[in-house]
Amino acid sequence: MTNTLFDKIIRREIPADIVYEDADVVAFRDIHPQAPVHVLFVPRRSIATLNDLKPDDAVLVGKLVLAAAAYAKREGFAESGYRTIMNCNRDGGQTVFHVHLHLLGGAPLHVPLG
Ligand code: 5GP
Repeated sequence: MTNTLFDKIIRREIPADIVYEDADVVAFRDIHPQAPVHVLFVPRRSIATLNDLKPDDAVLVGKLVLAAAAYAKREGFAESGYRTIMNCNRDGGQTVFHVHLHLLGGAPLHVPLG
């Protein structure tokens, strides 16, 4: 069993505003939102970084993207648009070593990447 911050959120040991979950993915609001909507889509199975993904993880990564797109549709900002980001390691700005996808939306994102 891994013990990342996000594992603890998924196990409800640390509180978070969970907005979606299914068998493979849990999504919750970022504690320091960078946009009106800022939700993190996290696989239940912890993988430290994008560099650790194996070919068999392709479906799981796809599920993160699909869950984010479905959330944007449900919340009514899919047509206006949004941004997804996955950070990797130091230069990518990764701070939690449990692969996750940021979904940012709810307003025009006129900010540079990164
Ligand atoms: P990273 O920088 O690794 O791509 O993204 C980690 C994200 O996790 C950051 O945007 C940060 O604000 C968020 N975060 C860090 N600690 C917590 C926490 O305890 N709860 C929640 N909901 N988000 C967190």
